[in-house]
Amino acid sequence: MNSKTPYRGRLAPSPTGFLHIGHARTFYEAYRRAREHNGILILRNDDLDRGRSRTEFALAAMQDLRALGIEWQEGPDTGGPYEPYNQSERQRLYLAYWRRLHATGCIYPCEHSRKDIVDALQAPHEEDASTQSSTTHSPVNGEQIYPVELRPSVSIGRDATEPGNVNWRFRLPYGESIEFHDGHYGPRHYVAGRDFGDFLVWRKDGYPSYEFAVVIDDIEMRISEVVRGSDLLLSTARQICIYRQLQAPIPEFYHCELVRSADGRRLAKRDSALTIREVLKKISPEELRNRLMQTTSIGGFD
Ligand code: GLU
Repeated sequence: MNSKTPYRGRLAPSPTGFLHIGHARTFYEAYRRAREHNGILILRNDDLDRGRSRTEFALAAMQDLRALGIEWQEGPDTGGPYEPYNQSERQRLYLAYWRRLHATGCIYPCEHSRKDIVDALQAPHEEDASTQSSTTHSPVNGEQIYPVELRPSVSIGRDATEPGNVNWRFRLPYGESIEFHDGHYGPRHYVAGRDFGDFLVWRKDGYPSYEFAVVIDDIEMRISEVVRGSDLLLSTARQICIYRQLQAPIPEFYHCELVRSADGRRLAKRDSALTIREVLKKISPEELRNRLMQTTSIGGFD
């Protein structure tokens, strides 16, 4: 980020449950960083997951964040220059970007099911056993690397004018390094095809994937720094591939450590005792903020 670029950060909750104290920590950090830079903070409602998103959770998220003392200048409730701030209302823009990405020739329609991919990953690759290192075809961070032999030929899908009812994947330059500097974790280095494979950019149910929608919104909303949990570091590597392909400016990234329960587990939305609203019944917003900023291992709230 160039020091003259005005700081624009964002909070991007998914309204699929009540926010827990792990979200509180990440979002408070995002708020703090925006304030430190005299910047603008946006609240974007990441409600593309139609099956799981609920309006009541989106409203609850805004209430809980405000109860914590977090303020934003643009959002579904306050409006702003880059409306709408609900992803579910941005489909036209997503389609326009699908066309742009498609025109670069880097995406292909994928008819293969998850099972086909798993089967292909398990098949022996005798002829090139020496070059297929175990990392190429084995899950890394739980990730199944999409096998190149399942890619269609480059001409397939080139004349499509819309995504239709099929999945579209990004044809990655396997073997290429993706490097970025994280504001918290420092230099990060990933290799396409080793750490992550051809990923979904468009889903056959007619909507963009998480990776694609987020990049489009962050470009369109002029986000200069993305603050989010460290569980999305690998997503950042994928998303950088999209930025590069679109020749769009890449924001800065700052990934926060995840809050863990006292027994070391990652928090989930089902940990109802650790939702912001439950915890704020027991302690003040100030105490919660102080505790979250001091440690990422949380005990004693439940
Ligand atoms: N909405 C996403 C989530 O709640 C986060 C998106 C992002 O920060 O890129 O996991």
